[in-house]
Amino acid sequence: MNSEIDEHEPLHDCGTLMMWVDCYNCEEGYSYHDCGEDTCCCLDPENNVRCDICRGATGWWGCPKVSSR
Ligand SMILES: [Zn+2]
Ligand SMILES: [Zn+2]
Ligand SMILES: [Zn+2]
Repeated sequence: MNSEIDEHEPLHDCGTLMMWVDCYNCEEGYSYHDCGEDTCCCLDPENNVRCDICRGATGWWGCPKVSSR
């Protein structure tokens, strides 16, 4: 038995089921494309810089009672 811990819907301190919030800053954990060149000439630039906001996690768990926006 390995540690297969699915982090799905954890409970917040207030007892509310937390909701997954997709990161607003990135897609799939990557925020933008940077190939090291000042002028990117990639034909199909893929995002390859890990997002600072979610640290590549693509989002985070949030309490629906706290994040009321
Ligand atoms: Zn809460
Ligand atoms: Zn590029
Ligand atoms: Zn992100």
